[in-house]
Amino acid sequence: MTVSVRRADHAPRPRQGALAIEAYVPGKSKAPAGVRLHKLSSNETPLGPSPKAVEAFQAAAAKLEVYPDGSATLLREAIARANGLDAARIVCGAGSDELLSMLAYAYLEPGDEGLFTEHGFLVYKIAILAAGGTPVVAPETNLTADVDAILSRVTDRTRLVYIANPNNPTGTYLPFDEVKRLHAGLPKSTLLVLDAAYSEYVRANDYAAGIELVAGSDNVVMTRTFSKVFGLASLRIGWLYGPQDVVDVLNRIRGPFNLSGPAIAAGAAAIADRAHVDAAVDHNARWLAELAEGVRALGLEVTPSVANFILIHFPDEPGRSAADADAFLTARGVILRAVGAYGLPNCLRMSVGTEESNRLALAALGEFVGGRARG
Ligand SMILES: *Cc1c(COP(=O)(O)O)cnc(C)c1O
Repeated sequence: MTVSVRRADHAPRPRQGALAIEAYVPGKSKAPAGVRLHKLSSNETPLGPSPKAVEAFQAAAAKLEVYPDGSATLLREAIARANGLDAARIVCGAGSDELLSMLAYAYLEPGDEGLFTEHGFLVYKIAILAAGGTPVVAPETNLTADVDAILSRVTDRTRLVYIANPNNPTGTYLPFDEVKRLHAGLPKSTLLVLDAAYSEYVRANDYAAGIELVAGSDNVVMTRTFSKVFGLASLRIGWLYGPQDVVDVLNRIRGPFNLSGPAIAAGAAAIADRAHVDAAVDHNARWLAELAEGVRALGLEVTPSVANFILIHFPDEPGRSAADADAFLTARGVILRAVGAYGLPNCLRMSVGTEESNRLALAALGEFVGGRARG
């Protein structure tokens, strides 16, 4: 933890954790001048949002002077209907990021610990530090959360455990039995946060997003997002399903109008359009497999993924490294995600894109490793 900013003695002083945060760096989104951009760096859907969501968004533009419904009832009811849940136990956020942060503000006193895993989503550490808490990292096994390692790091100050399932940027997941074993091993006073941002994409029989676990316990919440499969990243919509007590706390802490009217309207329309989601999931299933196979055929290791992206491993050698590949691909307009900040300096993460982007990325990667010679 280095304090990188010099301040005068009497300058306003932020809470201690604030200056320990390394600000989140989003995926690049620019190609060199004159080169067509294929942005595969932020796990956005190549299909875009449902046209019905766009229509609802545009209709909402007619009443921008009116405050939105502060409890986002229309959206919570649409989410509840689509998932068979009680709308009273849903809280919406300006992206699930806001909910992940709210949980830290709500449940961490200064010095309390928030736990996450070695290559876990970076927002957890930011949320914990911003709330004045102490981040604790559990090592992973095979780039996958390790329940025993997590449990062994729990202390009497552990208030929150954040798990992305599946995880970003690795694409790996914990089978539901393992999630249940993790929950069973935690103190009742520790809140387990299941971040299921990519759950819609998962086609593994032993996976569950966590609804059942939330329903049957007092210390588990699940967060979801409209930024990925629903294609509404720009609108910032997330939601949380949790025990009534947690929901009540979050409803006190959150901003009274934390979702905009257009977001509420578009989100409700998006989640009702099952066919659009199915198409996005089908496209992903096909290309996730093809990309993994295609990249492996080039001699590069790919971590098995159940999400909408793959983690590609490069040799730690000059000319063949992840940084070299990143520069080579960027020059051709193919933008992947460097993941050094996640402790994976030899990897790049590639989102599943359109058929055109996927083929172009594979071809460019092939050129990079000299794969064309192999036929
Ligand atoms: C993309 C992502 C989210 C979603 O964030 P939003 O704030 O809802 O856009 C949450 N968790 C993980 C692990 C993600 O990769």
